[in-house]
Amino acid sequence: MSTSPYIRPGAEHLLEDLNSAQRAAVTHDARALLVVAGAGTGKTRALTRRVAWLITQGLPPHAVLAITFTNKAADELKRRLVTLPGGGGVWAGTFHGFGSFLLRRHGDAVGIDPRFTILDRDDQLSVLKAIYKDLDIEKGVLRPVDALAMISHRKNGGGGRPPIDLTMPGVAFIFDQLHDAYVERLRGADLLDFDDLLLDSVRLLEECDDVAALYRERFAHVLVDEYQDTNLVQRDLLRHLVGPHQRITVVGDPDQSIYRWRGAVVRNILDFGEDFEGAEQVLLERNYRSTGHILGAAEAVIERNRERHAKRLYTEREDGQRVLLTRCRDAEDEGRAVAAQVETWVRQGRRHDQIAVFYRINALSRGIELALNDRRIPYVIVAGTEFFQRREVKDVLSYARLIANPRDEAAFTRIVNVPRRGVGATSIQRLRDFALARELALTDAAPRAEEAGVSKRARGGLQRLLELFAKVRAMPRAPVAPILEALLEGSGYRATLEDSADDLDRSRLENVDELVAYAREFDAKEASGDLQSFLERAALVSDQDGYVGESGRVSLMSVHAAKGLEFPCVLIAGAEMGYFPHARSLGEDAGEEEERRLFYVAMTRAQDELAVSHAVRRQTYMGEEHRAPSPYILDIPEDRLERRDLATWSGASSLFDQPSATGYAPPPDDDVSVVRETGLGLEVGERVLHPYFGPGRLEEVGGGGADARVTVDFDVHGRKQLLLRHARLERLS
Ligand code: ATP
Ligand code: MG
Repeated sequence: MSTSPYIRPGAEHLLEDLNSAQRAAVTHDARALLVVAGAGTGKTRALTRRVAWLITQGLPPHAVLAITFTNKAADELKRRLVTLPGGGGVWAGTFHGFGSFLLRRHGDAVGIDPRFTILDRDDQLSVLKAIYKDLDIEKGVLRPVDALAMISHRKNGGGGRPPIDLTMPGVAFIFDQLHDAYVERLRGADLLDFDDLLLDSVRLLEECDDVAALYRERFAHVLVDEYQDTNLVQRDLLRHLVGPHQRITVVGDPDQSIYRWRGAVVRNILDFGEDFEGAEQVLLERNYRSTGHILGAAEAVIERNRERHAKRLYTEREDGQRVLLTRCRDAEDEGRAVAAQVETWVRQGRRHDQIAVFYRINALSRGIELALNDRRIPYVIVAGTEFFQRREVKDVLSYARLIANPRDEAAFTRIVNVPRRGVGATSIQRLRDFALARELALTDAAPRAEEAGVSKRARGGLQRLLELFAKVRAMPRAPVAPILEALLEGSGYRATLEDSADDLDRSRLENVDELVAYAREFDAKEASGDLQSFLERAALVSDQDGYVGESGRVSLMSVHAAKGLEFPCVLIAGAEMGYFPHARSLGEDAGEEEERRLFYVAMTRAQDELAVSHAVRRQTYMGEEHRAPSPYILDIPEDRLERRDLATWSGASSLFDQPSATGYAPPPDDDVSVVRETGLGLEVGERVLHPYFGPGRLEEVGGGGADARVTVDFDVHGRKQLLLRHARLERLS
């Protein structure tokens, strides 16, 4: 790996392995600098190199604030900088991490207890569900998940299409109640959700001039990676942070903006010049990552987006292998095709950890896992959040959270009767009603259980729990592992798992032990770490944080988690209508364009080999479904594709044993009949129907034979050029 530029002293070597545009980006003296560039052009490399460059030019590391997309990226940046003379001390982390950092130090200035707890989505839902119960609201009219999405939407300023229809009878009324109760509940228990971390930080900087001044003084240069995925609140945070004497550098690619559903706006890139005075721009155009075929195929896909500023992107790499497109019968078939492809690549000399499999939704991993298991191919599911979402891990963390924040209602509700201590649902509801009537935090009501009418037996259980908390709260807040141990022993949580005959509880125990081990590692590594920062790390973990480079295993992950990464060999599974684009986005232009960008992100992770697969049938929650291929694969030029069809050959599975089988498979039967029936007889001007682009008008027929192409202006999807052979058009009479 190329860490060498960081190790040697001096500054020039930092520029040695950069092209001239990258050098310009690294050394630019603009007050505000925007680097816009396509995938794999070295944006992240230029950004990290710029930090190093600034430090060698005399900027104290302490004065650098670097916002990365994941904790992992931040760790990586810090790790590299440590080798620079005077390189430690840069503040690097995510937006949410930075918000948390600010609020822990200065939150009290805006009424936030610095001991606040961060709620993840699960916790948010459980708080909301409790509110449904307390207020006696039916879930039928407005589902909790939708209400939650709407709460976030409203908190973030409410731009764009709201996730729920407030004009439906009764919905607005119910939503307002839920919203107000939710906000109040969080405030009363010192709980912040992810939105709050950002919004309250902005409020803090807005309302407290001295705090804003303090950080403007401290941070002379702010740098942000993946700027295309910032939202307006994050932009505001930056604006408050960057005063007239500071500098800001952001890098991003509008074509890779994939967090619109979380409020990200590409506009932040387009408006950069207005948001930050004196802005200048550097373009990077050379892609260093991918082969010609991969880049060409990806470009052909993204070009179809209408909301787009075309940019130049080229590679000096060879064309390499064509993109392998495999049509499979069903999910099982697809799993086997993926496993066979992995084996082929390994036979050709690739390591397992040079291979990644991406999917649009996590549920798709199951079929692939089964197949990999069958062939004994080592793999790892990259999902950093998953471990921390496990029931037992969340239970233990909830105990720990109550040590850090005694008012954490979400945590209290979760563990008050886990393991069982006689505090049943009725007792909890009594306590809750009592707290509600007196405007007390739930945990403050617990010591008054008798007044609340809680049964004697439940009171005994509560009493023991409160005593445990008092005892553990008296311990020092670091190291963390002994705190977890004390809670596990004192609560009987470990003993309950140990005594259980259930196999599941065995593996739960292992996970609990893993959490304690994780805490030990944290204690050893983080000199200034305490319980608070440990919990924060657990709460702010992202899926990508679970990725380990040289694991010796194939990585399986969602496309969202793959952002910013690269692999020599990439497989994209489930390239079907309903996943790419996701069914949820259909009928909404902006949503569909985002889906296309997501596919572009997936494709551009690949360095040397890219394989895409889809199944024609799949079991979904609706039963067995016929699946149409993703329209995006239709946009890949035929001369960059190598097709394989496993869905129509009866002897398809034998193909797996012949990795050399290449070339075009005969067109599937149903395609042939359609071509025969309508393809050649169609005339320009006729109305036609496409299986997923819907109705449109035939505008042009070009070429002949196998290469015949048609241009159709679809009513909804606009003009598209299709290979007639695969277009499956029907005449609309
Ligand atoms: P993405 O859009 O996916 O975030 P990016 O623009 O941030 O990509 P990087 O990840 O920084 O791109 O770089 C892509 C690859 O190209 C990396 O492997 C990087 O080391 C390599 N690279 C970048 N610049 C150069 C260069 N000047 N010479 C050689 N390799 C380079
Ligand atoms: Mg990058």
